[in-house]
Amino acid sequence: MRNLLIVEDNRIAGTLIRTKISGALDWNLFWARSLKDAIELLDQHQNNFFAALLDYRLPDADDGEAIQEVVSRGIPSIVFTATTSTHDIRAGLWKKNIVDYVVKDNAQSLNYITELLSRLEKNLDIYVLVADDSQSSRKMLSKLLKTHNYQVIEAGNGKEALKIIESQAGIRLVITDYSMPEMDGVKLTRRLRSKYGKDGVAVLGMTGDQQAAMGANFIKAGANDFINKSNFIIEEFYCRVSQCVETIERIAEIRELATTDPLTGLYNRRYFYETAEKIYASAKRQKRRLAFATIDIDRFKEINDTYGHQAGDSVLKQVAHLLKEHMQRATDLIARVGGEEFCVLADDIAPQHAYRMFEELRAALAEHSIQIKDYKKVKVTVSIGLCTRRGRALDNMLRNSDKFLYQAKHEGRNKTISDLTTPAMKKIDS
Ligand code: GH3
Ligand code: MG
Ligand code: MG
Repeated sequence: MRNLLIVEDNRIAGTLIRTKISGALDWNLFWARSLKDAIELLDQHQNNFFAALLDYRLPDADDGEAIQEVVSRGIPSIVFTATTSTHDIRAGLWKKNIVDYVVKDNAQSLNYITELLSRLEKNLDIYVLVADDSQSSRKMLSKLLKTHNYQVIEAGNGKEALKIIESQAGIRLVITDYSMPEMDGVKLTRRLRSKYGKDGVAVLGMTGDQQAAMGANFIKAGANDFINKSNFIIEEFYCRVSQCVETIERIAEIRELATTDPLTGLYNRRYFYETAEKIYASAKRQKRRLAFATIDIDRFKEINDTYGHQAGDSVLKQVAHLLKEHMQRATDLIARVGGEEFCVLADDIAPQHAYRMFEELRAALAEHSIQIKDYKKVKVTVSIGLCTRRGRALDNMLRNSDKFLYQAKHEGRNKTISDLTTPAMKKIDS
């Protein structure tokens, strides 16, 4: 678990901070009331703190001395101040290599702090590529980014940057200078955009040139944002970097919402058919066998009617979970396509193998007791229609599996019916 150091002499402020953060994050909180207490805690824990929240003015350090002390121990520090109204205080704070500062007199500040702390946590997994031919520029930007916990990779020009982004997964932001040898920043941006959309990687352009049109050039080439180095302000840099990263995260969230079923976390109908068509097309080209199963919970309505809708939801979640656990091949596409109906498309699978796999799933589900309330367990069964012939189109597989499902229901439920169990096939088998 992560350790957070809070240094705040005011009892009310400290309590508020502690309450807010412990409600939002599952971290260990350590609260020191003075610089002396803070040093004791730091020593005692060998500086093992993920971040620190520091009051600017403390009884034994009334001019920000605590910042120096904590930052020098390599701990990302957020400063809590009563005022930053003068330019001097702000500039002075940023020189101390802090993560950010937050003004106390603001009702939103506690929310801002918790968001910032979880940002620091998320940044550990985010790679940022800095492309700049000036080593001093690269070093300066890298240092700032590392203070915010980003993983930083450096490139000396656009060509190098392209090579790196192709070999290193997880790069979410490219910060690029304009004038570089081999390939300039605008060209690099264009090349990146021809391969990656704004959901894949964000680009932040930079230049020291006084050319007024440079920002427009970058943005027209596909950059998300632009900063002029000749007027570089750390605070603004951090704001723009966070915004770029958050844009990517928002897009990923929206994509997830659009492709998954919120109740079970499985893919939804739309994603299933879109992806199934692609798998089908490739399987047909490469002559791979496919299996398409439609799985429907038996007499599910009775569960709702007897135990309530919430219990029904809980059954759906657990059936989805068991289904996912049972289908262990990474290529199996699993979705909740309707109320209590699930579909699976298994790629590159022999018919007999597919039949066994779904038959085992059916039997395993029937065996399993599902907890629906603290004191109540129920058994549910499913009926499965399975199509193991690729046919002329995905639609045919869907229709066939549906037909077999209907037959399974008709024959008493808790059954798997497939093209392998139809009478014609049985004759061939025997
Ligand atoms: P059968 O064995 O023939 O499939 O019977 P069944 O009761 O499972 O099928 P039916 O289609 O008659 O009823 C399905 C029920 O599933 C009706 C609907 O209210 C319920 N349902 C659909 N979506 C949800 C959901 O998200 N949560 C809950 N709790 N119930 C749902
Ligand atoms: Mg049903
Ligand atoms: Mg149904």
